[in-house]
Parts: sequence; structure tokens; C-alpha cells
Amino acid sequence: METTITEKIKILIADDEPDILVIMELILKSQGYEIIKGTNGIEALELASEHLPDLILLDIMMPEMDGWEVLRLLKTDPRTAEIPVAMVSARDGSRPKITSMQEGALDYVTKPFDSLELLNKVKELLGK
Ligand SMILES: [Mg+2]
Repeated sequence: METTITEKIKILIADDEPDILVIMELILKSQGYEIIKGTNGIEALELASEHLPDLILLDIMMPEMDGWEVLRLLKTDPRTAEIPVAMVSARDGSRPKITSMQEGALDYVTKPFDSLELLNKVKELLGK
């Protein structure tokens, strides 16, 4: 019998709020994605270079190093520069969204998000 090993799509989520990590993990795991979790900027950066995920959901306001700095460093490392990143923040409005794009992120997720919205964005980002 032949065994097929299907490599799961890996998503790194970084947020300093444990509740957000739990919710995101539940939503994304329900679709079969493999989840890696980081709780601050430095950890997010380390996990990104260690696991080279397919997508990164990056909270902006985090201790140690904020999401903007993490994004800049990800973009300067050729190993992680091409990984799609969506910034995540509670701040609403068009400014954080525009800044996200200028800094090289592909999308912006506003907290609180609903599960369908999140999944649609993730699917779209993985397709890019
Ligand atoms: Mg935060």
C-alpha cells in the first residue's frame, strides 16, 4: 500500500493577547491548517525563520518588538521576504490598512474579526 504524506499548510500567528491566539487557532485548525503561535515580536521573528510558514498573521501592538518592526525584518531576510503577511490590529479605519500595504504587508485584519471573514482572507492570501 502506498502512503501519501500531505504536507499541511503552515500559518504563523503572532499576538500578545492569549484569547486572540486561541480563537484564531480554533478557526484555522478547523480548516486543517497547521498553526504556529508566537506571543511577542521577537518570538514571531524567530518562529518565522525556523518554520518558514506559508502565511503570517501579525499583530501590530506587541511587546519586545512591534508588528511593524517584525514585518521590516521579515522583508529584509531573503528566506522570509516572500512569505505573505497580514497585519492584525484593533484599530479600524483606512490608515493602518494603507500603512500595512506601504510596509509590504498584503492585507489588514481588524479585531474583532468573524471566523468566515478570517478564513476568506487567509484563503485569498494563500492563493497569492
Ligand atoms: Mg497586541
